[in-house]
Amino acid sequence: MKPLFHPRLVNDPFGDPALYVDFLFERRALLLDLGDLSPLSARQLLRVTHAFVSHAHMDHFVGFDALLRILLGREKRLHLYGPPGFLDRVEHKLAGYTWNLVAGYEHDFVIRATEVRPEAPHAVAEFRTRTGFRREPIETGESSTGGVLLEEETFRVRTVFLDHGIPCLGFALEEKLHVNVWKTGLDEMGLPTGIWLREVKAAAARGEPDARIFRIANREVTLGEMREHAIRIVPGQKIAYVTDVACTESNAAAIVELARGADLLFIETAFTHAEEARAALKRHLTARQAGLLGREAGVKRLVPFHFSPKHQDEADILLREALAALEHG
Ligand SMILES: [Zn+2]
Ligand SMILES: [Zn+2]
Repeated sequence: MKPLFHPRLVNDPFGDPALYVDFLFERRALLLDLGDLSPLSARQLLRVTHAFVSHAHMDHFVGFDALLRILLGREKRLHLYGPPGFLDRVEHKLAGYTWNLVAGYEHDFVIRATEVRPEAPHAVAEFRTRTGFRREPIETGESSTGGVLLEEETFRVRTVFLDHGIPCLGFALEEKLHVNVWKTGLDEMGLPTGIWLREVKAAAARGEPDARIFRIANREVTLGEMREHAIRIVPGQKIAYVTDVACTESNAAAIVELARGADLLFIETAFTHAEEARAALKRHLTARQAGLLGREAGVKRLVPFHFSPKHQDEADILLREALAALEHG
């Protein structure tokens, strides 16, 4: 199956957290956390439409400037999401620069920031280039019912509130359904591969009727025929991202629920289990705790990251500890 999401950590596990999620067939990408983004090319940064920030500790938010720098002067809109206090953080970042020359810019780059609130509706504000990024509150009435932050045709992004001494957001990217196309089925029907299959996949994912007709060159084929011979619907891809959390009972329950059955769980493994007390003090997980959470959630693969610099020369210890807990408990 060709996955929809292509996630990769921007930095090695000791670098500042940022997960770049590229999309198949689309010129777009998402970012989870805005740590050091310097390894990303301008082309990669320009694809980013939405960025989700777990919390505003510097190592998770320092890349904001890199994104701003490349998007400034473009006809673009960047959607940002973050925890309580986030709108102030964004406003203050923007207020750190002088904007006397932007009023006449041809393109009005806009940041739309959403401060996620646990109970109440989100606080949303826009910051436009031409006003010098003055904060403009937007009434949306949107709230995090069910934790859904973004709902698109093919996927959604969900969040949960976690405790890191401060509220910290965990995220899950969930593809709704995945439609596989069988090349042999197409061959038997004498049909070519091509861009027309995108339309077929979207129609199948929407559950459109069998009678729906597609025209390819000088032929017609129905969705029913495609369903019978050339496509299969399977559960969608799921990716979870959890970092900077204390090992508490309520965090564990929320993380397991968020990551349940994920194909891939990116999870912090800051410390070794021998440093459990230190990890608790710093409101971080040990590698063993991270592995056990992945095991309980039944994730297929676990990617440990956000290693404490103290372990610079022993990354393998953290990796081994997390994977042993995932596999054997
Ligand atoms: Zn951190
Ligand atoms: Zn932190």
